[in-house]
Amino acid sequence: MRYVAYGVFTIFFSLIILPSIIVFGFNFHKTFSVPSQEIKLVDNGKLVKLEDTSNYKTINVFITNQNKIQKMDLEEYVKGVVAAEMPAEFEMEALKAQAVAARTYALSKEIALGGKGCELHPGADVCADSEHCQAWQSEGELRQKWGENFDKYYAKISQAVEDTRGLVLVYDDALIVPAYHAISGGKTENSEDVWQSKIPYLRSVVSPGEEVASKYKTTVIVSKEEFINKLKQKEPSLKLDNSNILNQIKDVEKTQAGHVKTLKIGNITFNGKDIKEIFNLNSTNFSFEVQGNNIIITVIGYGHGVGMSQYGANALAKQGKKFDEILKYYYTGVEIVKIEDLLEIQH
Ligand SMILES: [Zn+2]
Repeated sequence: MRYVAYGVFTIFFSLIILPSIIVFGFNFHKTFSVPSQEIKLVDNGKLVKLEDTSNYKTINVFITNQNKIQKMDLEEYVKGVVAAEMPAEFEMEALKAQAVAARTYALSKEIALGGKGCELHPGADVCADSEHCQAWQSEGELRQKWGENFDKYYAKISQAVEDTRGLVLVYDDALIVPAYHAISGGKTENSEDVWQSKIPYLRSVVSPGEEVASKYKTTVIVSKEEFINKLKQKEPSLKLDNSNILNQIKDVEKTQAGHVKTLKIGNITFNGKDIKEIFNLNSTNFSFEVQGNNIIITVIGYGHGVGMSQYGANALAKQGKKFDEILKYYYTGVEIVKIEDLLEIQH
């Protein structure tokens, strides 16, 4: 019975929750982009045949802080996403890469194109909640955020979106799930090391130049007592002696990117993700040290590490790489096509 319940939960989690949580980075929210088990979101990877192909030019967005659905021009929507998800100070080519990823995600959710929409808000294709779909900010919010820089930044973001108008990421003639995150910590993850499924275009690549990010390396300090108590809240049967904690941490299994996949603490094997959650860490790339009565947890990177690293994208842009090169670097084997052309291929 327990296994059945677990199975049902797994299916629910994989099919309902995972696809709904994407994104991401830049507000440094505690959000993690999680693509679905059903990797190909749109009707098994193919856009459904459309009667009216002009549908994809608009999108129904649930505006979380106004509690209403607003129909808007797709490209205008993408501007609000790029502005919310990536600092406007970033390089133009990084902003363009972000625009293509944001557009691809939005279109994959479009109900009019056969997507499932935002699961939390029936009738909406996406919501503006970074904890659920992808962040989006209105012009009013951006005026407030950017102050006197509004005109300059808005023009810059608009250019990034307009220069990539209609461009989307495809693999095998289907829209991809463009996972992205703030900082990989030097190397991105293979999808199967973070989620269950092996996704051909979400492969581990080195991601240099991220060290400039203020949150590249962070530390969390907890007392030994708190360390043990918090772990016990998760695993009441944990046996961990306070006198020599580091010696009781072993069998650390790491992912290709060097993040902790599993480790044994005392008598219990934890997932890296559990530890991340328990201690509210920015990533699963962590290590422990003891200082006096405290445990120092050093964390490298920010986010799940799958797909495009936003700081890595900016570093590549600084080296002179173009947005398409950045996208093809982080999403292995993808192509960049105009959505109109994709619709034609599929008809
Ligand atoms: Zn949503």
